[in-house]
Amino acid sequence: MASIEFVKVSKWFDRQPVIQNLDLTIEDGKFTVLVGPSGCGKTTLLRMIAGIDPQTSGSVLIDGQDVTRIAPGKRGVAMVFQNYAIYPTMSVRENIEFGLVNNKVPKADRTRLVETIGETVGLNDYLDRRPSTLSGGQRQRVALARAMVKNPSVFLMDEPLSNLDAKLRVQMRIELIELHKKLGTTFVYVTHDQVEAMSMADTIVLMNKGVIQQEAPPEIVYRKPRNRFAAQFIGVPPMNIAPLGNDNTTFGFRPESVVVGTEPGSFHYKAKGEIITREMLGAETIYQVKTTEGQAFMVKCLEDEFHVDQEVYLGVPADKLFFFGADEKRVEE
Ligand code: ATP
Repeated sequence: MASIEFVKVSKWFDRQPVIQNLDLTIEDGKFTVLVGPSGCGKTTLLRMIAGIDPQTSGSVLIDGQDVTRIAPGKRGVAMVFQNYAIYPTMSVRENIEFGLVNNKVPKADRTRLVETIGETVGLNDYLDRRPSTLSGGQRQRVALARAMVKNPSVFLMDEPLSNLDAKLRVQMRIELIELHKKLGTTFVYVTHDQVEAMSMADTIVLMNKGVIQQEAPPEIVYRKPRNRFAAQFIGVPPMNIAPLGNDNTTFGFRPESVVVGTEPGSFHYKAKGEIITREMLGAETIYQVKTTEGQAFMVKCLEDEFHVDQEVYLGVPADKLFFFGADEKRVEE
């Protein structure tokens, strides 16, 4: 197990700064998810931990040790990529034990280790198969097993589930949470998918344009977003935001916090509007409502009781409203 620390880290590509003076501590044994829009610098951070593409300045510490001059293979980290990086001509067993053969681990020890790891990731029935005969999820497990065999103190994962279909992704998310529990090792996981971040992370590190926007457990990012970006990045559909004054101050509320009715209720925030679109998703329905003031808001209802063009009233209780200053930071009540 190991903690990871970035101290005043900057990274430049072609005379362009991508990360500037970043400080971050990733806790030992935690499942940390780096999340943010495409190009925000998540992979760059991961590659700096791995040592594949070192920082331009500043230090990266693993377990308190500055690893700047330590080669990738000697850092005690293993990386799992989205394209699996498994050898197509080798069996599953050969793929998993590849690193062990190279390190001259005796055959009996290799067999035992491969079977222990195969058991952990549910691959023991497939050890003699070729990767081409496996499903996407099984291949992803081979990639995980290949990382596990190195017994790393840190697992680095770069969008490992993005090649899987939606159903399998959900299943693999649960498997990764369980794997993390079993191993108790530091996991650093990169994704642009906020649902993955919310469902798996002990700690979310939310980034935008190379800058950390918030670093907190998922429920805190959801309930107490630090700024407008965090408020709108986490949650589907995103938080509704509307101007409060003409000074760039705003207020917001989540689609699931809106009470929709055919009569005006007594709420802190009220608006009258018309349903513009209706999206029935099964357990819930998402409506887009245009208010008489011309704002378009998304609302999420458990009942599918309204229709397009219908006039409705929206209400939001005081404790479900968020306020943001002109600097876009959330203003605490
Ligand atoms: P994605 O979710 O799309 O993978 P990301 O958040 O992981 O995005 P990075 O891959 O870390 O983003 O890239 C951050 C920025 O650095 C981007 O603007 C990218 O264009 C730039 N960048 C990354 N690698 C290089 C490189 N080798 N040369 C030049 N620019 C690069």
